[in-house]
Amino acid sequence: MKMLLRSYNIKQTLPCLADPEKIRVIAEISDEIHEVFPYLNATLKGCIYNHPANTLTIRKDQKLITLHVLHITLAKIEDEKEAEEILEWLKDLINETYEKRDQIEPNFSMAAELKALDIFKLLPGTNCKKCGEPTCLAFAVKLVGRDIEITKCDPLFSENYQEKKKVLVELLQAAGYEVPTAATSVD
Ligand code: SF4
Repeated sequence: MKMLLRSYNIKQTLPCLADPEKIRVIAEISDEIHEVFPYLNATLKGCIYNHPANTLTIRKDQKLITLHVLHITLAKIEDEKEAEEILEWLKDLINETYEKRDQIEPNFSMAAELKALDIFKLLPGTNCKKCGEPTCLAFAVKLVGRDIEITKCDPLFSENYQEKKKVLVELLQAAGYEVPTAATSVD
């Protein structure tokens, strides 16, 4: 079997500020994998494929996995052991899907099934109304409908919610939303 992805290497393990008991992992990979993205997008449920940016985001058991051309990021991970297990699963999935690509109709659509609830989970959840909305859920509904900008949620940009903000920006960008530069430059 011709392997598209031969190996991976965990390069960085960062604390997950949104959940102090979890980690965020960045893994370097040995080969460019973007060729398989439209085939994974066709076979997996709930993927977000950003074709122009060459990223594919997969949600698996509350974990957020983003495949890039030459690296993979994993969020909300228990520990390195779990990261290794997910990366091994991904490696097999990528190689098996690539092997079977002739039998799969590639899907190049964004298929961005971003739901208000996905956004809501990444907001501060305090219902402080600073954004002008009565609740965080109302804000999430507007954000998913592109009726409000993420920067209107001021608390999200405080130090307390750095990690949530980072994941939310990543999710929005992966789903093809335009995110104001102010939201991407604050870390
Ligand atoms: S400003 Fe942010 S935290 Fe406050 S209600 Fe709006 S979305 Fe929720």
